[in-house]
Amino acid sequence: MENREIKIHYEIYKSTEELNNQDKILIERAIEAAHNAYAPYSGFNVGAAILLDNGEIVVGNNQENAAYPSGLCAERVAMFAASSLYPEAIMESIAITAFSDKFVVDFPITPCGSCRQVMSEYETRQKKSMKVILKGAKGEIQVINKIADLLPFMFNADDLKQK
Ligand SMILES: [Zn+2]
Repeated sequence: MENREIKIHYEIYKSTEELNNQDKILIERAIEAAHNAYAPYSGFNVGAAILLDNGEIVVGNNQENAAYPSGLCAERVAMFAASSLYPEAIMESIAITAFSDKFVVDFPITPCGSCRQVMSEYETRQKKSMKVILKGAKGEIQVINKIADLLPFMFNADDLKQK
């Protein structure tokens, strides 16, 4: 038997004022996007904004449905839109934020497991790390410099070898 450990690294910023301009703009776009979410069931508005290496910013927000699984998270709405609009572009960073009239959201909201898996595949595909900037309605901001830190042991079909 052998024990192994994985260490992850992330940064904490007390407010958006401590972020660089590019990250500040991305957070602002994510906040705007959260206001346009269609979230009548959860009452939990999430917004995501992705900065591409061509300078474009693509946003997404959660889109819910009466048939629950038919809806989709803000992060995947944004990533799928970015990948369909600009298939060759690299996703440099993604800002994610949320607010709610029903819940206290004074901490950074982290992406769900399914979104992490999708992020991981895009990061692997583009061979360049994607930075994640997380902000709640209030409070500190977390910055994770690569998706691999959010999802160690991602499922990667490239790992499968044909018999
Ligand atoms: Zn998700």
